[in-house]
Amino acid sequence: MNQEKMKLNENPLLVDTGFPLFDRVQSEHVVPAMRHVLKHANERIDWLEQNLEPTWAGLIHPLEELNIAFEYSWGMVSHLLGVKNSDALRKAHDAVLADVVQFFLRVSQSPVIFKGLLDIRNGSAWQAFDEAQRRIIEQKIRDAKHAGVGLSGEARERFNAIAKELSQLRTDFSNHVLDATKAFEFIITESGETQGWPETLKQLAAQSWNAANKEDPQATPDNGPWRITLDFPSYSPFMEHHRNRTHREQVYRAYMTRASAGAFDNSGLINRILKLRKEKAQLLGYENYADLSLDSKMAEDVAAVQKMFSELVQAARQPSREELDELRRLARASGQTVPLAHWDVPFWAERLREQRFEYTDEQLRPYFPLSRVIDGLFSLCTRLFGVTFEQAGGLAPVWHADVHFYRVKDGGDETIAWFYLDPYSRPEEKRGGAWMDSCLNRCFIDGKLRHPVVHLCCNGTPPTDGRPSLMSFNEVTTLFHEFGHGLQGMLTTVDYSDAAGINGIEWDAVEVASQFMENWCYHQQTLIGMTKHFETGEPLPDELFDKICAARTFRAGSMFMRQLEFGMTDMMLHTDFDPNGEETVFDVHQQIAQDLNPLPPMPESRFLCSFNHIFANGYAAGYYSYKWAEVLSADAFAAFEEIGLENTAAIAALGRRYRDTILACGGGRDPMKVFHDFRGRAPGTDALLRHSGLSGSSHNK
Ligand SMILES: [Zn+2]
Repeated sequence: MNQEKMKLNENPLLVDTGFPLFDRVQSEHVVPAMRHVLKHANERIDWLEQNLEPTWAGLIHPLEELNIAFEYSWGMVSHLLGVKNSDALRKAHDAVLADVVQFFLRVSQSPVIFKGLLDIRNGSAWQAFDEAQRRIIEQKIRDAKHAGVGLSGEARERFNAIAKELSQLRTDFSNHVLDATKAFEFIITESGETQGWPETLKQLAAQSWNAANKEDPQATPDNGPWRITLDFPSYSPFMEHHRNRTHREQVYRAYMTRASAGAFDNSGLINRILKLRKEKAQLLGYENYADLSLDSKMAEDVAAVQKMFSELVQAARQPSREELDELRRLARASGQTVPLAHWDVPFWAERLREQRFEYTDEQLRPYFPLSRVIDGLFSLCTRLFGVTFEQAGGLAPVWHADVHFYRVKDGGDETIAWFYLDPYSRPEEKRGGAWMDSCLNRCFIDGKLRHPVVHLCCNGTPPTDGRPSLMSFNEVTTLFHEFGHGLQGMLTTVDYSDAAGINGIEWDAVEVASQFMENWCYHQQTLIGMTKHFETGEPLPDELFDKICAARTFRAGSMFMRQLEFGMTDMMLHTDFDPNGEETVFDVHQQIAQDLNPLPPMPESRFLCSFNHIFANGYAAGYYSYKWAEVLSADAFAAFEEIGLENTAAIAALGRRYRDTILACGGGRDPMKVFHDFRGRAPGTDALLRHSGLSGSSHNK
């Protein structure tokens, strides 16, 4: 055996069975492993392109096998980048990234594979496939079409040129937003000006000043100077707490006109992006970009999205007006003599919130020790879905001593899934926030079922001398959210990895299972049941629970209208708007905002110039998805409310149905059908409006 081969034999990224060897991977393993995987994968595609048979075993299964090799190698690298980052690992990742992207592009654009897929669909065996198999094949055909595989000659060349330019424009757009954000600062030196600021804002602003003045970092939280920036964690608390309204106006104007002039001007880019998207959609045979976007989503068509918009607008319009009047009255009563402007809204809204139900994270944290919350979450899942969890430490290698490994059992003793929980923050190597990711998908390998394995990562405070890890309420709902994704990954019953768990689920339906779980955090018995003051042992007082619930619906009308303004502008720009016409994108936004916002928009607003979601990230003609998934998850939860949340036996039966439909089907069944299976009817907006306090009877609280 030569040395090269021996090294590959010892490479922990090249195992292809069992649990990944997270404890052994070093950055120097990445490049040789990925080169090996890519070489083998490319050879396999070469072979397939010569020899494929248009059958499941002759084409789809070989493609699935290739994915397994990537799960153990590339999947591990991506995961470690999030939880055990280092310069060396990042460098190794970057060294192979382009080749990995290229490989997947090659597969999706291969005309031979495309023809094979079409032959399967048109062949005699089609009728014998199950629903998940058909969806997998149809999604592959659709993705290949969207990647331009059906185009030839000039059209193909033009398509590729558009793709290339769009990808550049996307990067430029987000860089401009970043640079324009960085270019602004607002310095405060008088300590009297910081009156009313929370301690955290003083700390952040002093820190920011020091970071910008490295040679002379003299700022302190109490004595300044303080530096305010347009980064949201700085901008938002400043607008809520800074008393000088002239300053607020300055900062607001800067925020709303970011990246709209000078070196970082995005106005021209927006038009170019919209023009190219339209042309791309038309090359693929769609009328506009929204039709292309919706072709791979759950929402049937633009009309279905518009219907949801108009129902929500109708319900939120009057409450949003009343909420604004409330702020006007408060401002007047507090001595503001000029009319309420946009830069006053967050400020007075925050005062109102303080008056009504102020509580702080620090007040709540002691009641939410992480271990207690996890126990509560597990027992809820046992109650609802009949599954149990047990620590399985030692059975699988982990990347850090704090990581827990769990076995998921189906009531009795049968193992059905596994998951890792990485609970604590490690700022030096782990990214922020919380997330769920699939580690190994459920599938058959050599005729044997492999159970799914899922990652759950949080950023809780690690325990310190005698003090357990304590969670904020927001961290609790986030854990429930991610665990909802996790359940869909773990309780899937689909046997093909392309449609198992969260794979293959439509973009606008993927947040349903996650948001569904969040609802339980507002169920008194569930929430109080998982609280226990770490010193006194007391459960959360009812009074604090009531405040948490009140905060959930605070200014819901205004929040809805804001999301709808973004969603409707996005949809309009990708349907009827003519990028070559007289009307500008800013006109479109102004008109929609005029109609929706009870406080007319600032005419100079250039909000679109920093709307990264739709111009730099993946939300083009898809911003509506936020509300779409909320509608579905609220309606699913309402089924439980209807039978009574304390009705244990009925809840368990309904929970089982939820498990067998929404959690089990993954990407293997059309999400609208799955919803019907669970709810017995199409989704409606009533439940979301009721939960948000916007359904007539309850909104005037
Ligand atoms: Zn999510």
